[in-house]
Amino acid sequence: MFRAFLRSLAGAWRWARKKRDGFGPDRRIQVIRGDSLPPKLPKRDLVLAREDDEDWCVGMRCPCGCGADIELLVIPEAKPRWDVSIDANQRPTLTPSVWVQRGCRSHFWLRGGRVQWCE
Ligand SMILES: [Zn+2]
Repeated sequence: MFRAFLRSLAGAWRWARKKRDGFGPDRRIQVIRGDSLPPKLPKRDLVLAREDDEDWCVGMRCPCGCGADIELLVIPEAKPRWDVSIDANQRPTLTPSVWVQRGCRSHFWLRGGRVQWCE
């Protein structure tokens, strides 16, 4: 009984945060010079650190709203690593999905600048 109540609360929370992201503009990606991310990331957009035509890492704030910074390595030597592609409108797509290991444990895909939550 109580468990069912908690499950429905969790479901409502997930629904609300997805809705909130769904109403916002597409996320874009800003390219900065250097091999590391700035200390303060933008609220919504992503940052790609690029040095000498080599992409190092992508940073973003966790889309669930918990405020955590997410840093994803894109250099070929890294493990785990992600692929980032950017369309003509500066909207990023990340492969594979992003899984926050600590805290909120968010799991999502970022495709075409939009967050798609994994259940
Ligand atoms: Zn989070």
